[in-house]
Amino acid sequence: MAEASPEDGDLIAAPAGAEVPDDVAEAIRTLIRWAGDDPTREGLIDTPRRVAKAWKEYCSGYADDPSRHLERVFEEVGGYDEIVLLKDIPFQSHCEHHMAPIIGRAHIAYLPCDHVVGISKLARVLHGFARRLQVQERLTAEVADCIWNHLKPLGVAVVIEASHACMTARGVRTPGVAMTTSRMMGVFRDDDRSRKEVLALMGLGG
Ligand SMILES: [Zn+2]
Repeated sequence: MAEASPEDGDLIAAPAGAEVPDDVAEAIRTLIRWAGDDPTREGLIDTPRRVAKAWKEYCSGYADDPSRHLERVFEEVGGYDEIVLLKDIPFQSHCEHHMAPIIGRAHIAYLPCDHVVGISKLARVLHGFARRLQVQERLTAEVADCIWNHLKPLGVAVVIEASHACMTARGVRTPGVAMTTSRMMGVFRDDDRSRKEVLALMGLGG
């Protein structure tokens, strides 16, 4: 199996030798104490370092400029002028209000104008924005705007369905509840037929 390079846009782990600053580790010890446990007991000794590194990974999107994934385009598309759709892309993010996981799937479509990108690039754009502290509405808008501004297609449609651990594991504790957000641009916003077509392709028509 090939090693994933950062270019692949997969989870970028903190560099193996990267040290966790003392104040970061101390903050996590404080949180453990606040939660009611003893950060000096054996099982928790190494936890602050692990948590700190995990958070660098969850938030690796801050070190990424998602638009860079759209720089390389292909112009020879044999006259293809239909919808390009990447469906059911699993992703993970964290809500900025509770720093709790957001776990979901995204459907990303665009109607090309002259050129296309490698299909996996759409997922990389998603992950670049998802690996930050987010709210689902903004994540949806950022992905759509990025594709709209950098690929300049005739239309962009982004639909995200996700469940929020801050709702399912705490607060009102309603497991199984998912939230859906969407952003339609260009022909998918202005033309009813195009919007219905893309939603049907996403399996959301009806
Ligand atoms: Zn939340």
